[in-house]
Amino acid sequence: MSFIGTQQKCKACEKTVYPVELLSADGVPYHKSCFKCSHCKGTLKLGTYSSMEGVLYCKPRFEQLFKERGNLNKNFQSHKIA
Ligand SMILES: [Zn+2]
Ligand SMILES: [Zn+2]
Repeated sequence: MSFIGTQQKCKACEKTVYPVELLSADGVPYHKSCFKCSHCKGTLKLGTYSSMEGVLYCKPRFEQLFKERGNLNKNFQSHKIA
């Protein structure tokens, strides 16, 4: 088993992620340095992040954004943020 030759691209910046800086969130590769909230730039942990179409948010921000709009529970896979 080897991952050599498998180039993973960071979902956030779309650059190659090397294993030493790889952070895998639900199978989606990110740079550790890219794994932060897009709003407050706070560092995220695997247990405390939320993502919407590849954009990362901290949980409080995410809930604030989407509960207010009533889109948190349904249709949020296809919901687009302008
Ligand atoms: Zn990145
Ligand atoms: Zn945040």
